[in-house]
Amino acid sequence: MPAFGDETLKTALPYTDAVRAKTDHIYARVADVIPEIEWRLHAPYIAAINDLKKEKNAVILAHNYMTPEIFYGVGDFAGDSLQLAKEAAKSDADIIVQAGVHFMAETSKILCPEKTVLIPDLRAGCSLASSITGADVRLMKQKYPGVPVVTYVNTTADVKAETDICCTSSNAVEVVEHAAKEFGTDTVILIPDQFLAKNVAAMTDIKIVTWAGACEVHERFTADDIREIREGNPGVVVLAHPECPPDVLAEADFAGSTSGMSNYVKEKQPDNVVLITECSMSDNVALENPKVNFVRPCNLCPHMKRITLPGILRALQTMEHEVEIDPEIIERARKPIERMIALPLTRQSMYNHAHAPEVAAIEARA
Ligand code: SF4
Repeated sequence: MPAFGDETLKTALPYTDAVRAKTDHIYARVADVIPEIEWRLHAPYIAAINDLKKEKNAVILAHNYMTPEIFYGVGDFAGDSLQLAKEAAKSDADIIVQAGVHFMAETSKILCPEKTVLIPDLRAGCSLASSITGADVRLMKQKYPGVPVVTYVNTTADVKAETDICCTSSNAVEVVEHAAKEFGTDTVILIPDQFLAKNVAAMTDIKIVTWAGACEVHERFTADDIREIREGNPGVVVLAHPECPPDVLAEADFAGSTSGMSNYVKEKQPDNVVLITECSMSDNVALENPKVNFVRPCNLCPHMKRITLPGILRALQTMEHEVEIDPEIIERARKPIERMIALPLTRQSMYNHAHAPEVAAIEARA
C-alpha cells in the first residue's frame, strides 16, 4: 500500500538542503529498506513533524507495525500497544500522537487522561477490537455469572470497562491462571480473539470461554504457508504471533507478541528467520539486526497503513482527531490494565517445545 496518496503527491513538500541536513542521519538508519528516491518524499514530512513536535511538546508513539519512515523517522517510543502507552504515561509531553490504530489511542488516553491524544486517521480501526462491544460483554457476564473476564488489550475502552483483568498476547496464559485462582473458578472468559483463546487453552487446564473475534492479518496465515516457507528456506526459524490459528502455531518454532519476536531475534540472531505477523514489522526488526536474513511473506494490516507521514503532520497542525472518552469509562477501563501491570508475571511469551526447547530460557528473561 503506498505511503502517499495521489492528492498528497500533488502537494508534496520540497526536499531542500535544510531538510536534507535535518534528516540525513535518519536516512542512514533506514537506507537498507527505503530507496533514496522514495526517501526524498518522506524526508520533508519527517523534518516538519519533528520540528512541530518540539514546538508543541508532543510525542509520537509508533507501533511495531508502522512503516520504517514513521517507526524510525518520527517515532519517539516504539513497541507494542501497551509498552507505548506505559512510556507515554511517564513522559512530560502535553500531546500524544498515536501512530497506530484507534484502540491503541484509547489505551493511551486511559493511561494518560490529562494529555491530549490524537489519532491521525479515524478510519484506523481493527477487526478484532470492532468484533465486540461493552454490551456483548455484559451479556456474557449474565450467561456465566461469577466467571472472571480476561480481555486482550486489543479492545475498545467500553470493553475494557466491563473487564476484570486485561492481558497481552505474551502474558495471556499466566493472566488466565491468575484470574481463575483469584475468583476460585475452573473457567475463565477470554475475549475477543478466538485464536489467542484456543492457543491459551492448549497450554492450561483452565476451561476457556471465548468470542468469535479474529485479527484479519493473522487469521489469514495457514499451516501450509509455514510448510511451504520451510521447504523453500531450509533451516529457517519460524516465529508466529499468538493471534494466528493453532495449526499455524503448531508449525512454528516460537510464538510470542511483537515484542517477544523482536527480543527473540535480538538475542538468538538466527541466520534465517520469518516473522508470521504484519509485514512492516520485518522491515523494522531487520534494520536492528543486519546479520539476520528475513524471509518476508507479506500480510499488511489495512488499518495500520491508514497512518501516514502527511496524516501525522496534519494531526499536529490541526490537533485532529482528538480521542475523547467518558471519564467514568476511563476510570473503569484503567483498573483491569493496572491489575495486569501489577501482576508478578514470569513467563512473558508462549513457545513451542516441539521445535525449539531452548527458547524457553530466552523467554523467561524477556
Ligand atoms: S494487525 Fe490485526 S489486531 Fe492489529 S490492528 Fe490490524 S487487524 Fe487489529
